[in-house]
Amino acid sequence: MNTDLIFDNTKVAFALKNDSELERAYFLFKMISIEPLVKIGTAATNFALKAHLPIEGLIRSTVFDHFCGGVNEEDCLPVIEKMYSKGVSSVLDYSVEGKANETEFDAARDKIIKIIKFGKDNKAMPIAVFKPTGFGRFYLFEKIGDGKPLTEAEQAEWERVVSRFDAVCNIAKTCDVTVLIDAEESWMQDAADQLVTQMMQKYNTTKPIVFNTVQMYRHDRLAFLQEELKKAKVGNYYLGYKLVRGAYMEKENSRAEDKGYKTPICNSKFATDQNFNAGLHFIMDNLETIHLFAGTHNEDSSYLLMGLMEEKGLENNDLRVWFGQLYGMSDHISFNLAAKGYNVAKYVPFGPVKDVMPYLIRRAEENTSVAGQTGRELALLGKEKRRRKV
Ligand SMILES: Cc1cc2nc3c(=O)[nH]c(=O)nc-3n(C[C@H](O)[C@H](O)[C@H](O)COP(=O)(O)OP(=O)(O)OC[C@H]3O[C@@H](n4cnc5c(N)ncnc54)[C@H](O)[C@@H]3O)c2cc1C
Repeated sequence: MNTDLIFDNTKVAFALKNDSELERAYFLFKMISIEPLVKIGTAATNFALKAHLPIEGLIRSTVFDHFCGGVNEEDCLPVIEKMYSKGVSSVLDYSVEGKANETEFDAARDKIIKIIKFGKDNKAMPIAVFKPTGFGRFYLFEKIGDGKPLTEAEQAEWERVVSRFDAVCNIAKTCDVTVLIDAEESWMQDAADQLVTQMMQKYNTTKPIVFNTVQMYRHDRLAFLQEELKKAKVGNYYLGYKLVRGAYMEKENSRAEDKGYKTPICNSKFATDQNFNAGLHFIMDNLETIHLFAGTHNEDSSYLLMGLMEEKGLENNDLRVWFGQLYGMSDHISFNLAAKGYNVAKYVPFGPVKDVMPYLIRRAEENTSVAGQTGRELALLGKEKRRRKV
């Protein structure tokens, strides 16, 4: 087992930040750590944006610039290049959420295709990503997942969703760019899973190009992975999985309570951690068929994965295993892993300021609510400030 503790090297972690960027990050996490401030700030920001008050500049120079690469993909290039100079790749994440009409779904598809083509000739962007509900109405995924019959119009609408998935996966295969498909709420996920499995059957014939996501806070996901592996072996195709813990826990639990069914979420953080780590073991034991993108900011899980790679005699840069974090978070994991030669990619969200607000609010709330996360960022930034005598 690899027991080297590499993540506390703050010189490597923050090498790309100059002193004033370091100060800004410290100030930002200090603000985010104050829960009432995040609550009031979120409400005030939503109100101000709806009222067209001129606060975009303020958002841009604070949370937006910290957690996003820019307003469009070209804006993100300096960030992408800087990170790549330290061995960290980028996954451009078009983070516009809550859109619900056909024009916007087509626009999202075209945006992802553009990013994939961008990535074809740019080594710093070997992976693309999209959200299932970026390509079709949530309601449709939900209805199919419930096994309810679609009307004729809905059937035609679903076929357009399938063709958007297909267009993106097809281009990804032609350009040899991996495409990750995010996971969302459990009540839309069954339909997404079925569709992504079809895409894997079609496009993962020589290697995994299409990756689905499993949220290991769900207690049924290890069994799901085992079933998917059986199908892939019979069907003779490869699997790609992004493993995450899951971002919709509160929503999942409260819906289950409201509707009176058993929550799909593990009954404790410890159980989620065990389940996530069991998922890592399972994929690492089946690497000949499944490739892994471990999307996590958890140090223990990251050390565990490094240890499993070492145990199995893999090189650090074995392309079957990737580590992933979000831009603006856990640089101490990303940059220290990259410095040791592991494959690391950070999601770099981008989009117009008001459209990425849901994403930014999730980040602010996550950093407020996830025990220890903000404290850890602050401690590391503080350590680096002292080291540099800022
Ligand atoms: C690159 C990347 C891609 C991602 N893609 C997706 C995606 O497609 N879909 C998605 O849903 N999320 C996604 N996430 C977010 C992810 O699911 C987590 O919310 C986030 O990363 C925090 O989990 P962690 O593994 O970093 O570790 P930690 O901070 O150790 O774990 C926090 C997580 O543990 C779980 N948890 C906390 N408390 C409890 C409890 N009481 N009971 C049960 N479980 C608990 C929750 O999932 C919580 O988010 C992604 C994250 C990254 C880094």
